[in-house]
Amino acid sequence: NEAGLEPPVSRSTAAFLREQAVVPGGSMRHASWFPPHPPYAARGEGCWIVDIDGRRILDCANNFFSLVHGHAFPPIVEALTAAIGRGTAFGLPTEGEIALAEALAARNPNLAQTRFCNSGTEALLGAVKGARGATGRHRIAKFEGCYHGSYDHMEVSLESTPENWDDAEGNPASVPYAKGTPPAVLADTVVLPYADADRCAAILRKHGPTLAAIVLDPHASKAGMVAMPAEVVAVVQDACARDGILLIVDEVVNFRLGFGGISPAFGLRPDFVTLGKIIGGGLPVGAVSGPASAMAVFDHAKGKPKVALGGTFSANPLTMAAGLASLTHYDAAAVARLNALGDALRAKVNAGFAAAGVAARLGGMGSLFRLHLGARQVVDYRSARPLPAEAAALPRIHAAMLAAGVLLTPNCSGALSTPMTEAEIALIADRFVQSTLATEA
Ligand code: PMP
Repeated sequence: NEAGLEPPVSRSTAAFLREQAVVPGGSMRHASWFPPHPPYAARGEGCWIVDIDGRRILDCANNFFSLVHGHAFPPIVEALTAAIGRGTAFGLPTEGEIALAEALAARNPNLAQTRFCNSGTEALLGAVKGARGATGRHRIAKFEGCYHGSYDHMEVSLESTPENWDDAEGNPASVPYAKGTPPAVLADTVVLPYADADRCAAILRKHGPTLAAIVLDPHASKAGMVAMPAEVVAVVQDACARDGILLIVDEVVNFRLGFGGISPAFGLRPDFVTLGKIIGGGLPVGAVSGPASAMAVFDHAKGKPKVALGGTFSANPLTMAAGLASLTHYDAAAVARLNALGDALRAKVNAGFAAAGVAARLGGMGSLFRLHLGARQVVDYRSARPLPAEAAALPRIHAAMLAAGVLLTPNCSGALSTPMTEAEIALIADRFVQSTLATEA
């Protein structure tokens, strides 16, 4: 053709070439993009995606772990079909937003009140502003390497490297992620180590009185999908109590791990919980929840709120309807079943690795999993960060899995969905062991 390109080998390749002309890089999904290009999706059926070339792919990427019921889950389709005929947004409140907020409150009394927005990023931004409004302080602390959306302060130290990750005192440095990050963002964001309670305590003793909030995810994906140690949780809770810092627990991903979210299992007592993903039933969503005392900062009914949190499509009726159907069908029994399937997957894969003598481990918790190559113990962002040879192997394993019909995220993590059964778990486990072995060879 005119551009001198080979004829497209597939419809996905043709789509990619076409998209690149009008979308820089092709695809909005920067975090899930991989070379030469991902397959283009045509439709989804339960835990399967059918791409535009007609290939069926078992979906463990799960739209960034948001589709806890997989694709086109009938109760969600029914709820959306009923809602859409009534109109999509009004600029007025609807009873749908009450029902979804009530459903959250019924799962965990600490989620007594909620304000909805349209993404997890927006939820974090709102919670941070809420903490600032309540305390009158502007600095925040977050943990090294942990992802909390693409709000500037939340991106600090997201991808720090051995060359820049320590400051002069040997504490985690405030490293910019995006070029052009304002210096004030770095100065206002204190970085904490995920697995070092003593160092955390020392940093918080120094900065605590200046902090509006500490933001944490106790099972952070980029920290390896390992549990934050109880000693670190205790240090954080103590600092919050001592210095009047508000605690923001980011449950955008991990809310799916427990009926009332993940905080109860860690003994965390958040002032704000940020939510997203599964609470929108597959539609764009974010939320800030918390006890009424903390949420009062957003209360506009009594005059100007200290902090305004709202937007054109916040709490739109479609998201509210889909979210309610999603939560209704993700009851305590469904949560337990999906988490047990995750345990079974880890057991199968790790037994397969052990039998084959492969130094790799499938980690994670409940319905979320992540592959770690190498034999070292993963406790935080630094130890989870793949060594150069591992960083080269992961994309090959990802590609081998896709070739074998299983979609993971590019770093070989994934999420299960309720349409899955033991048959899918056996298939994923088998492909995982085979793909990892083939890549080692
Ligand atoms: N927090 C965490 C822990 C996340 O993983 C994500 C997204 N993957 C976000 C926040 C941001 O959510 P969103 O992509 O909806 O902005």
